[in-house]
Amino acid sequence: MNLQAFVSRRVVTAEGIVSAAILVNGERIKAVVPPAQIPSGTDTHDFGDASILPGLVDSHVHINDPGRTDWEGFETATRAAAAGGYTFLVDMPLNCLPATTTVAALEVKRATALGRCWVDWAAWGGVVEGNSEDIGPLAAAGVRGFKCFLIHPGIDGFTLVNEVDLRAALPHLARTGLPLLVHAELAGPVDAATERLANADWRSYATYLQSRPDEAELSAIRMMLSLCRRYDFRLHIVHLSTSLALPELRAARAEGMAVTVETCPHYLHLAAEDILDAATLCKCAPPIRSRENREALWQGLREGIIDLVASDHSPCPPAMKRLEEGSFRTAWGGISSLSVALAVMWTEASERGFSLLDIARWMAEGPARLAGCQDSKGRIAAGYDADLVVFDPDATFEVAPERLHYRYPLSPYMSETLRGVVKATYLRGRPVFAGDKFLGEPSGEEWRH
Ligand SMILES: [Zn+2]
Repeated sequence: MNLQAFVSRRVVTAEGIVSAAILVNGERIKAVVPPAQIPSGTDTHDFGDASILPGLVDSHVHINDPGRTDWEGFETATRAAAAGGYTFLVDMPLNCLPATTTVAALEVKRATALGRCWVDWAAWGGVVEGNSEDIGPLAAAGVRGFKCFLIHPGIDGFTLVNEVDLRAALPHLARTGLPLLVHAELAGPVDAATERLANADWRSYATYLQSRPDEAELSAIRMMLSLCRRYDFRLHIVHLSTSLALPELRAARAEGMAVTVETCPHYLHLAAEDILDAATLCKCAPPIRSRENREALWQGLREGIIDLVASDHSPCPPAMKRLEEGSFRTAWGGISSLSVALAVMWTEASERGFSLLDIARWMAEGPARLAGCQDSKGRIAAGYDADLVVFDPDATFEVAPERLHYRYPLSPYMSETLRGVVKATYLRGRPVFAGDKFLGEPSGEEWRH
C-alpha cells in the first residue's frame, strides 16, 4: 500500500487539536506532520474542517457470539461499531455460549469470529465460581483481563462470585497482572428492596429504581476496595451508576490504589425523572438514577475519578424487552448503543464545555489502557494502528432504525436529535465505513500481542 495522508484542520492528538496530516504507511501511523510536509506522491485524503479522532475503543460490549447470535453477533456488533466510530471492541465473557471461562471456550469464540468482524476485537475472560485454575491459562492464552459479577447477571450459566470465591480467585488473578472488571452491586440490598416492592407497580420506573438502591453499589465497591488492599490486583469498576461512591473512589486513588472506574453514555444522558412508565428500553443494571446524580457523574469525569466511558452495549431480542407488557420486573436489562454512543456523549459533553480531547481520552485512550493495548490503539501518534474516525462535530441527526446497524434497531434514544456525525471510519489504514455504507470485506482481527 502507498503512503497515505489524512488531513484535517482538527486532528485530535493527545497533545491537542491541531491542523495536521496523519501519514499512514500500510496499517500504521508513520508520523503526524504539518500539512505542508506531506511528501510528494502521497495518496492524500483532505477532510477539511471535519475532525479526525482516534478510532474509539469500547471495553464493554456483549457480542453474545457464539451461542446467542439471535441476540447479537460478531458481524452485526462490529458493523454497528464501525458506523459508530469504534475500531476496537473488547467482548464480555457472558451471554455467549459457552461463556468465556475456559481456554477451550476462548478458542471456540476465536473460531466463531474469524472473517466476520468489521473492526478489531479482543476478549475478557470470566471469573466464576470454581474456575480459579482457569485464570492463569486464560491470561496466557490472550484474554485482556477478567470480569466477575457480585449479583446474579440476569441470565443463568455465568455464576456470580461471593467474597469466599474471590479470596480463592484473587491470588491467581493478581499473578496475571491483568485487571478484574467488577459488576459492583451486592444482592443483599437489591433482594431486600425487591421484597418490599412485591406489590408495587412494576410498570413504574420509580419502582425499578427503588429495587436497586445506591447502597447495593456502595457496599459492593467497599468490599472490592478492601479486597484490593489485601490482594493487590488491578480493580476496575464497570458501569458506575451511583455518584455516592465517588468520594470513596477518590480516596482510594489518593492512596495510590490501582483502581479505575468507568461509566456509560446512558448514565450521562438519561435521568430517572424523565423515564416514562413502561419505558423498558431504559432498563439496565445498575439503574439510571436522578438528574442530580447524573450531574455528579459528569463532575467525576471532570475530576478524573471516572477514567473512561464504555457503552455496555447489551442487546437482546425485542420480545425480551417486554415492550407491550411494560414491566420493569421481567424485561431484560441492557441498552444497545454502539452506533450512537459517540453522538450521545458529544451532545452532552459539548454542552458542558468539554472538547473532543476529553472524548478521545474517555472513549479511546482510557479503554485501550484498561485492555492493555495502549501502545497500539486509542491514539493518533507515530507507531499506532491507523484507526481513524472522521467526525463532523457540528452536524446533527435524528436517531432512526437505519442508523443503528446492530441486530435489532432498539434504542432508548430513538427519534432524539443528537450532535456529531461519523463520516468515515478507517481500520488500520483501510476505510470500513463511509457515507452510510460499509466498504470492502470484514477485515477486523483479534488483537494479539
Ligand atoms: Zn455489561
